[in-house]
Amino acid sequence: MQRGNLSITILGSGTSTGIPVIGCRCDVCRSQHPLNRRTRCSVLISYNDHNILIDTSTDLRQQILREDIRHIDAVFYTHSHADHLHGIDDLRGFNLHTKSAIPLYGSPKTLERIKNSFSYIFDHSIPVGYIPHLELCPLEQPVSMFGLTMEPIQMEHGWISTLGYRCGPLAYLTDCNAIPASSMEKLQGLDLLILDGLRFTPHNTHFNIPQAIEVAQQIGAKQTLLTHLSHEVDHPVHDQQLPPGINLAYDGQKICFPSHKEDCS
Ligand SMILES: [Zn+2]
Ligand SMILES: [Zn+2]
Ligand SMILES: [Zn+2]
Repeated sequence: MQRGNLSITILGSGTSTGIPVIGCRCDVCRSQHPLNRRTRCSVLISYNDHNILIDTSTDLRQQILREDIRHIDAVFYTHSHADHLHGIDDLRGFNLHTKSAIPLYGSPKTLERIKNSFSYIFDHSIPVGYIPHLELCPLEQPVSMFGLTMEPIQMEHGWISTLGYRCGPLAYLTDCNAIPASSMEKLQGLDLLILDGLRFTPHNTHFNIPQAIEVAQQIGAKQTLLTHLSHEVDHPVHDQQLPPGINLAYDGQKICFPSHKEDCS
């Protein structure tokens, strides 16, 4: 990748079950259309030769292989729900090549849950190589690396809090059903917004698509993609019905920002 080039790849655009849903015989789950097959939610931000992964989804291994990702410099977690976390053990494959720890960023609460849920990873009596080599980095404010700044955005996801992330001209906000005013202020002037838009019917912990459209129009990014999509969403049918500038995300979608010019010193 050329110096200064920023991109984001949708590794997974599906809700917690993945699509098709195990055992479901609905039209979308039986669809052979590639846009209706969704792995669990995650994105990769690439800048020059650096890769930042947001979440380690349950489907991380197949996402990494599909996109031919050779290294990960850092992982940022939105929250600790299983669909965003349980691929964590597959980070071990990157350690085998780099021989160094991968930093994991997230809220102190999310990192505490990761440590408790995957205690073997942080058991230093087990030799590196048998377990992933990861370093917990609690995130309270924006952090800069490789010339990029990752700014945490506080959100509500039912009864828990989650973090979205802004990175220059783009923001990734999944697993949310409310965005406080203080966070909305941090979302001005975006080129790309990727936003939770689970399904058409209401849900207790996710924006549904009508709510997501309303929030997207308030934020006013040049382009918005809806993600964390359930099997209610038939991509070829429903994508065309969205307002201008708003589309459904799909697995493998890549958006480039060739003119992005943060200093990379
Ligand atoms: Zn989720
Ligand atoms: Zn289904
Ligand atoms: Zn969640």
